[in-house]
Amino acid sequence: MATLGIPQNTIEILQKYDFHFQKKYGQNFLIDTHVLEKIVRAAEITAEDFVLEIGPGIGTMTQYLCEKARRVVAVEVDRKLIPVLEETLSGYDNVAVLNEDVLKIDIAELAQEYNQGKPIKVVANLPYYITTPIIMGLFEAHVPLESITVMVQKEVAERMQAAPGTKEYGALSLAVQYYAKAEVVANVPPNCFMPRPKVGSAVIRLTCHKDRPVTVSDEAFLFRVVRASFNQRRKTLVNGLGNDAALGVTKEQAVQALEKMGLQPDVRGERLSLQEFAQLSNLLL
Ligand code: SAM
Repeated sequence: MATLGIPQNTIEILQKYDFHFQKKYGQNFLIDTHVLEKIVRAAEITAEDFVLEIGPGIGTMTQYLCEKARRVVAVEVDRKLIPVLEETLSGYDNVAVLNEDVLKIDIAELAQEYNQGKPIKVVANLPYYITTPIIMGLFEAHVPLESITVMVQKEVAERMQAAPGTKEYGALSLAVQYYAKAEVVANVPPNCFMPRPKVGSAVIRLTCHKDRPVTVSDEAFLFRVVRASFNQRRKTLVNGLGNDAALGVTKEQAVQALEKMGLQPDVRGERLSLQEFAQLSNLLL
């Protein structure tokens, strides 16, 4: 039964195990059944699905996932939570809890073992201190992915979803949108968590592209160009590229490439779409 989302039940289990929240692990547990239902609905989990949950905490969302999915693997770094999870998930035989650091495990191998290498769904209320490494790690390790539905810091969700020309648009928007379509599903206030985080939160769904939306000769070079372009936000793209010695692109080469694309030499990085960055990186290579 999925009931830990009721605050009193969370408090009871925390007291029973004398559990103390660890700031260093980004522990903010969900205590709002509406938000939990919204996340699980947005993830569109079916009885065929394998779901990876990152950071199950006391198992609040894990219970919902176990009700819907064929198989759930939950990766939790804090060993003090393992006995708690043993109790809260004892009613389910389709879940495995791994006491590991998610950044250190081979998730592609996990997908192979539990889902025969077919695309998996990732669902989580993420520890905010490692949101970007977790998400980019999943993409860059070429884990077979169908979707990632996660709670993140509100500003981070906005950056992931941002379109060119907005102030939130940057390297993270481009990196995420290269791999997935990003949609904010819900904004979630601090009072839906225990303890309350100092920042606002949002649920974002990343639906992974089956085929990349752009074609580039060198993926790694595209992202180096993107990073250099946003390195000095108030500078022009040409200066950003020219000042990044490791990139090996001169300002003259950058101006020429922009000219070929019909763009002004003083254009800023935040004006260029993913398609334009792909074209630029192909021209500069
Ligand atoms: N899913 C629970 C919920 O919604 O109530 C807990 C979410 S809490 C924001 C983040 C969880 O991730 C915590 O349980 C924390 O211990 C765990 N965590 C933090 N760093 C981790 C890591 N490197 N690997 C795996 N889990 C981690």
